[in-house]
Amino acid sequence: MEDDGLTRIPAMNRLLERPAARAAAERWSREEVVLALRELAAEEREKVAAGGKPPGSLEAWDELLLSRLESRLSARNLRRVVNATGIILHTNLGRAVLARAARQLLAEVGEGYSNLEFDLRTGERGSRHAHVAGLLSEITGAEAGLVVNNNAAAVLLILDTLASGKEVIVSRGQLVEIGGAFRIPEVLARSGARLVEVGTTNKTRLADYERAITAETALLLKVHTSNFRVIGFTAEVPLAELVSLGRKRGLPVVEDLGSGVLVDLSRYGLPAEPAVQQSVAAGADLVTFSGDKLLGAAQAGVIVGRAELVGRLARNPLMRALRVDKLTLAALEATLRLYRNPELALREVPTLAMLTRPAEEVKEAAERLAARAREVLGQRAGVEVVPDPTEAGGGSLPGAEVPSWAVGITPGPEVGSLEECLARLRSADPPVIAHVAQGRLLLNLRTVLPGEEDLILAALAAWRQ
Ligand SMILES: *Cc1c(COP(=O)(O)O)cnc(C)c1O
Repeated sequence: MEDDGLTRIPAMNRLLERPAARAAAERWSREEVVLALRELAAEEREKVAAGGKPPGSLEAWDELLLSRLESRLSARNLRRVVNATGIILHTNLGRAVLARAARQLLAEVGEGYSNLEFDLRTGERGSRHAHVAGLLSEITGAEAGLVVNNNAAAVLLILDTLASGKEVIVSRGQLVEIGGAFRIPEVLARSGARLVEVGTTNKTRLADYERAITAETALLLKVHTSNFRVIGFTAEVPLAELVSLGRKRGLPVVEDLGSGVLVDLSRYGLPAEPAVQQSVAAGADLVTFSGDKLLGAAQAGVIVGRAELVGRLARNPLMRALRVDKLTLAALEATLRLYRNPELALREVPTLAMLTRPAEEVKEAAERLAARAREVLGQRAGVEVVPDPTEAGGGSLPGAEVPSWAVGITPGPEVGSLEECLARLRSADPPVIAHVAQGRLLLNLRTVLPGEEDLILAALAAWRQ
């Protein structure tokens, strides 16, 4: 009798019980595996209808399944990558890695409905901002807090609310451009405020601000020069002095802190960044900072300060366009909770843990990876451990060198050029992002997360073929 082909398509349950499918379900998820198998079975049925034959053995089905899952995975546009550049807040690689608590709350809130704007006590409409406002006050000491889409939006909202059609005084030394074309003069122009520059590039004094104040002045703005430093013969006015001038003349003082660190990093040999708490204590009326720089949560712009001003910001119609979603709030709330205990934050917030990890530990990790890389690569490449100092990145801690160590790889001629090796690592699954310096390919261990060493070795193993 003629085999009609359809009988050779195994039942879904039989395929799902095979070791290959079980292993795949562990690696991806059972749902992905079921979907892939359904897809394959449907395709094979079509082939049979067109006179073709389905795979003859269960092993052949296993292979089909695995290659389908691999290609589905690499078909994703947004993917996880291994950051072996050593730059902790790499804007192109998604800035902050989320803390475990943040990932958990994010998954929970994404999986079901949430009380985003629902007051569980009264059963009435609630405010999405309530979830983090109290935490922000508790941690920073400010009267009130508000969160928008990013720090650029925070500055825009403040200027639009308090200074549209009026003048804003900024020191010439602080008219910065942050990556991604955020330029203080342009944001000011957008908001309808007029920029009044005072001082010079290297020196600005209190008297410069004083002289510039007119009846048209709306506020005094201080901007953290995040991604550069002016060294030598320089002077900027300390926040406290600007605050006393503001008080005297009845003008709010706003500080754009950029990174917005909430813990003291100076005891880890890092430069003493002005903490948000210090700006609040010094009397700044509003302070803004990013959620995904040194704070280590999701992209967001955090505003803390005087309740009356924060209330005015919250009532600005622009707020509807700048508001954050539940996923951002989940990541931010869970991360902020960790900061109630600074020691816990230093351990649990990956950005802080990576930044404060002792260089000696990073070196040991590099030595362990180098030993295994030597085994994997054999004669195909030279492998050594080299110093590879790095930086916080993302415009945080400008000029501060963070000591670090890398596995340096010098590929042999049969492997290819350094550029080719970089490209091969980028095409691994997951992609590994390395960098080239000192004539070698460098894998910097400061940003390699626990468990990622195996992924790097798997990527290097592919060089054998
Ligand atoms: C990074 C930065 C910004 C922009 O912050 P985003 O959250 O990326 O929008 C604005 N101002 C300063 C001083 C910064 O450092």
